[in-house]
Amino acid sequence: MAERKKGINTICTHFGELEDTVYKGAVSPLYMSTSYAFEEVAVKRYPRYFNTPNQVALAQKIAALEHAEAALIFGSGMAAISTSLLAFLQAGDHVVLQKTLYGGTYNLVTEEFGKFGISYSFTDGLKVADFEAKIQENTKVIYIETPSNPLLTITDLNAVSALCKKHNIISMIDNTFASPVNQNPIDFGVDVVIHSATKYMGGHSDILAGAVATTEDYIHRIFHLGKNLGGSLSDYTVWLLERSIKTMGIRVRAQNKNALEMAAYLAEHKDIETVYYPGLPSHPDHEIAKAQMKGFGGMLSFVLKEGIDASEFQKSLKLIKSSMSLAGVESTMLSPTKTSHALLSAEERKRQGIADGLIRFSVGIEEVEDLMADIDQALENVKSNSTLKLP
Ligand SMILES: *Cc1c(COP(=O)(O)O)cnc(C)c1O
Repeated sequence: MAERKKGINTICTHFGELEDTVYKGAVSPLYMSTSYAFEEVAVKRYPRYFNTPNQVALAQKIAALEHAEAALIFGSGMAAISTSLLAFLQAGDHVVLQKTLYGGTYNLVTEEFGKFGISYSFTDGLKVADFEAKIQENTKVIYIETPSNPLLTITDLNAVSALCKKHNIISMIDNTFASPVNQNPIDFGVDVVIHSATKYMGGHSDILAGAVATTEDYIHRIFHLGKNLGGSLSDYTVWLLERSIKTMGIRVRAQNKNALEMAAYLAEHKDIETVYYPGLPSHPDHEIAKAQMKGFGGMLSFVLKEGIDASEFQKSLKLIKSSMSLAGVESTMLSPTKTSHALLSAEERKRQGIADGLIRFSVGIEEVEDLMADIDQALENVKSNSTLKLP
């Protein structure tokens, strides 16, 4: 009899557990050894080879979460992204990337790929025709990110993966913003799924890690480069990450619910110009998001009404912290103009749709009423202060 497919919280809690055969403890034992006896000549266990007991066990959990055959865990999201991309690209190859990308990935491609003789194109838009328009004879990989940072744009997974299959191109996705709780791109035909596990998988703003999930075959290729580049994760952090993922399902679902309520609240707010959240029916790609996501995630962004200063607003918040990172259980905000997109010219920011009053909001698990009250008091504070300054 085929085994029943387990639900997400069961996978989060139990898959890839290591059994404590000695003391029968409830949690996975932690094996910190960097040196193991040769059991067979073929098996060389070593942390940089991604094959210690804790690494192997957690990789099974992540593969199960992404409906993949296999997975590898890395020392950071960028280690997972760089190793995965370079595993499939060599001198003379070309990669197409969507125009809205995580800043670190953009820097990796634009600052490093030239050295390796790998060429690249960014799409002009996010429709499948925008991807098709950039395909060349030597295109080997199409790389997407959905929902994207910071405007929560949506890329159609079915359409892009079908395009890749037609042209014999490998499709890769950065699935960090959605998390495996909300989106499983392999079910839509995407080949390689990458995560910054620093975000929702870690979930407590205290772990730096990355992961990639795909077929056995592709994992083998990524492993081969990965052991040479040396970006694996220390076993202690692997163990902490396993502990974090146990609660990922309940955390992310709580964040989905809070973000949807906050998005609806902000959309009606007199001091807010625009809200970007794929869960709102007013989002231009709400229908695509509904078709490919199980929940709309904990990330949203919004634009303050003209005259309300984004920095002053953030300084006035008492509960919601300012933070560069995201996806923790605590709510955080940042101003892309002042942080992630600060190095771009004002004109380039405008081209990318990044308004000065734009705030990216990583919604946590607090009570929404408290988040609403904090935003309201901060807005009132900024407005009363700016009136004082008027002649
Ligand atoms: C944070 C992040 C990354 C990079 O991950 P690190 O763990 O910081 O290396 C990549 N993609 C997205 C969408 C991210 O948010």
